[in-house]
Amino acid sequence: MTFDDIRRVIAERWGFETFRPLQEQAIRAHVERRDSVVVIPTGGGKSLCYQAPAAACDDGLTIVISPLIALMKDQVDSLGRRGIASAYFNSSLSYDERDAVIDDLRSGAVRLLYVAPERFSDLQFVQLLQASDVRAVAVDEAHCISSWGHDFRPDYRRLSQLKKWFPDVPVHAFTATATARVREDIATQLNLRDPETFVGDFDRPNLTYRVVWRNGFRDQLLALVEAHQNEPGIIYCMRRKDAEDYAKYLRDHGHRVLPYHAGMSPDMRQRHQDSFMAGRTDIITATIAFGMGIDRADIRFIVHAALPQSIEAYQQETGRAGRDGEPSVCTLFFTSADFMSWKSIFEKSAMSPFDDGGDDNLDARMTQLGEVLDFCKSVTCRHATLVSHFGQTYANENCRACDVCLDEIPVVPDSTTIAQKILSAVVRTGERYGGKYIADVLTGGDDERIFDRGHNTLSVYGIMSESDPRDIRGWLDQLAAQKLLDVGVEYPTFSLTAAGWDLLRGQADTTLFAARKGEKTSKKTSRRRRARMSVPVDGRDDGSHAFVTSGDEDDAMADPALVDALRRLRKQLADDQKLPAYCVFNNRTLEAIAKSQPSSDDELSQLSGMGPKTMAKYGEAILACVNRRTAG
Ligand code: ADP
Repeated sequence: MTFDDIRRVIAERWGFETFRPLQEQAIRAHVERRDSVVVIPTGGGKSLCYQAPAAACDDGLTIVISPLIALMKDQVDSLGRRGIASAYFNSSLSYDERDAVIDDLRSGAVRLLYVAPERFSDLQFVQLLQASDVRAVAVDEAHCISSWGHDFRPDYRRLSQLKKWFPDVPVHAFTATATARVREDIATQLNLRDPETFVGDFDRPNLTYRVVWRNGFRDQLLALVEAHQNEPGIIYCMRRKDAEDYAKYLRDHGHRVLPYHAGMSPDMRQRHQDSFMAGRTDIITATIAFGMGIDRADIRFIVHAALPQSIEAYQQETGRAGRDGEPSVCTLFFTSADFMSWKSIFEKSAMSPFDDGGDDNLDARMTQLGEVLDFCKSVTCRHATLVSHFGQTYANENCRACDVCLDEIPVVPDSTTIAQKILSAVVRTGERYGGKYIADVLTGGDDERIFDRGHNTLSVYGIMSESDPRDIRGWLDQLAAQKLLDVGVEYPTFSLTAAGWDLLRGQADTTLFAARKGEKTSKKTSRRRRARMSVPVDGRDDGSHAFVTSGDEDDAMADPALVDALRRLRKQLADDQKLPAYCVFNNRTLEAIAKSQPSSDDELSQLSGMGPKTMAKYGEAILACVNRRTAG
């Protein structure tokens, strides 16, 4: 079997003339009989990598190990339609059907056999396979073998025997999601020999990511679903009960929604899944049990009703949106309380939503959960964060497809002054405390330790008494992310970096964001924030909707083209001076300019952020930019 034979078979049986990224490399590893670890995002075409080499052989068997019993029949049927003999062997078969498969295996009639990992606990079955002419083993969803993966399944651990059972047979591990650590773990657990490793591009440019503080969730959910009228979507829920409740709530509001979770009978689950796949149902509310292998390419929106369990799970679950390449929206709703809720779910494994129950890796799970919480609270480009989690670098400065880059996260007025107050408290308390203590000092808290240490006499004590301590802690995290603060390794205590000192001395500027966007604060801000949250859900982002609000009298609509033009100008000015963009003018100022469209120095200088220095440096360029746009 040569590579060209396989290419010919792909053209004949599948009708594909070109390869998707990494398919060719993965198939060449088959031809060379090299073990491999292939990481290709969901929808990237992993199955072809093992199906085509098997189909190109006149004899021999490829074993495909997959946890998705429900999908095996579909795979086998679809191979059958292409004239490729395959079978599956699982608990859903009758005795007669099993016997027929066994006969086919003995006579060498099938090229691919799908089995679930638990099958390998049956040594007779293993012997049956050993007596067959096994040419390759493909392990699908291979991350399930690693306790560092997000979906560890103890049954997968049996697969460490594969190399013993089939000593000279190449093993190919496939997954849509694996960090470097999980990749290494997969290779170790499967005892792969010098495997070739291929890692695909994890960025999904057609997906827009948003993270929203959960607050009055049913309203938030309904608004989002209504903005996606009749479009397919999945709502991931933490608990089965949530899946049921949200389905009912949305159905009561006239939407075609069905739940899907491990607590339902297999029969009902299948009916709901079929209904979704056939387009009779628009929305599925699901626990994580739903989705692996879902092949509906036109899913337009994914909602996480609560914190997902890991960045990898998030990447995989959101990865089901927009597989047709069309714009799609992924909205994650969370509160910090989700962290503890998950913890208690993990601890009481009886309540676990996982099909496989057991939970022997609580520490790993908590670490992963912490990473998702950081992701939610951070104000760094979501695309960049996601790809860097998978060890890749994100080249674009602005993805134009996440709440951060679209400037939807409200900028905190007087950010620099607030940052200076916070940094000052860090310094004055001796650079040896964590976020809670610093926030307590700044808000004038009555923690005894503050009085014991005399910190109540510091000038910073109580200077932010109007602020919520949770906001201050969020800003501390942001300042750390901006490298203005260092965080201790052993204890999470804060100290200033050189850049932090520059800011404290007034030699630099910064922007802070409302860390808990969407949460109710004062009436006025909450209206503004709601407006920001409720608009951008149509998935066809043009970068403008950050400023489109819901009609507050002081919120005129900004011209999206002007917003874009101002952003480009800001970038050019910043690049010329090698400054970060916010040092030229911040998002709030940009928003104000776009809305008020000033035509004179006087009008421009009235706007917040347009002090004399900024006016002198950039006033002329800004007015010219506004003028070009409004005149045109
Ligand atoms: P994955 O298992 O990586 O999620 P699949 O193997 O299910 O992805 O493939 C996703 C879709 O892409 C399928 O509909 C498949 O037919 C299609 N596909 C795979 N490879 C190619 C290719 N080279 N050219 C065109 N379509 C492809």
